[in-house]
Amino acid sequence: MANQKRDYYQVLGVPRDAGVDDIKKKYRQIALKYHPDRNPGDQSAEEKFKEAAEAYEVLHDPEKRRLYDTYGHEGLSSSGFTGFRDFSDIFSSFSDIFGDVFGFGSFGGGFGGGGPRPQQGNDLRYDLTLDFLDAALGTEVTVEVPRVVNCRTCGGSGAKPGTKRVPCPQCGGRGVVSRSHGIFQITTTCPRCQGMKEFVAEACPTCNGEGRLREKKKLKVKIPPGMDSGTHLVMPGEGNGGVHGGPPGDLYIVMHVRPHEFFQREGNDLHLKVPVSFVQAALGTRFTIPTLKATHELVIPPGTQPGEVIRLKGEGVPYPKGSRKGDLLVEVVVTIPRNLSARQQHLLDELAKEEPAPHVQPEGAQPHDEGLFKKLWHTITESIADNKREQKK
Ligand SMILES: [Zn+2]
Ligand SMILES: [Zn+2]
Repeated sequence: MANQKRDYYQVLGVPRDAGVDDIKKKYRQIALKYHPDRNPGDQSAEEKFKEAAEAYEVLHDPEKRRLYDTYGHEGLSSSGFTGFRDFSDIFSSFSDIFGDVFGFGSFGGGFGGGGPRPQQGNDLRYDLTLDFLDAALGTEVTVEVPRVVNCRTCGGSGAKPGTKRVPCPQCGGRGVVSRSHGIFQITTTCPRCQGMKEFVAEACPTCNGEGRLREKKKLKVKIPPGMDSGTHLVMPGEGNGGVHGGPPGDLYIVMHVRPHEFFQREGNDLHLKVPVSFVQAALGTRFTIPTLKATHELVIPPGTQPGEVIRLKGEGVPYPKGSRKGDLLVEVVVTIPRNLSARQQHLLDELAKEEPAPHVQPEGAQPHDEGLFKKLWHTITESIADNKREQKK
């Protein structure tokens, strides 16, 4: 094993004349990266974590470093240095380093220390209201999400930077207290320090010793097309900050879509109601209707019935993934005029003479004289149009 050991300077990635501060900084980075709580079950991360701890143990100690510089690994082992047995060994040796970063003393969580375990931050929900067209076609918005994160001044420890933590007097810094109960010994988490083993001697001025801060995070969110009310997006790691070195939670953005003046949505299909006069429905017509992105020249064929639906393929809402789109379903709403001019009244009377009473006409029946029928309808249409123009004046 001894002859496989890598050079300690190489392990930490520092030059041979590196100062203690640099060595500490580098070690901290490596230790955080390969920390067992961030790499559960990862053997190679575990090895790297231990290797770095050993290198740091030697290089930050002037006496051991001198031995190593002069005699190498051999020199250390002959002086009795054995490295570390396990994780708890490492954590108890370098509590100052982990304490700074993870927010409490010796980081015993998960290693038999009885201290607090790293916890993932809470997931957050953000309710986002979107305009109909933005939701259908996609957009980019900036949101401000209130959340709780570790204090950046103290790294979540609650201690004023540079100040020492003091061991808990009740448990003597063990985090647990034992008491005899007949022949048994009962060990419980220390009630004074809650298993933290230490106290903050001087509170961090930024967070008043709480270690946590509320903040509003501005986030740019790309909204894909096809969002609808009740759908959501997940932004990993944008929830509350983790506790005791745990990872942050996720952010769920829940969509609420405002209704549109004309369009109604059903899945990825759009519905649009188009009013058409009974004359236009009978004779057929064409006019421009709005679609999601532009307009469309809609053709109403002659003889279109009330409630008939014209399907425009691919003019609906796009699906979030791929290039598929829903359809636009145009429902023809036939309107009957409420007020007739004398001339309209007369023309309709004439028309009525040409056909059997509508309510007894069997479905699909044609008027006797198509030519006369059409001519009459045209006259009525023009008359209605004239009437409208009159009214506008
Ligand atoms: Zn703080
Ligand atoms: Zn205690």
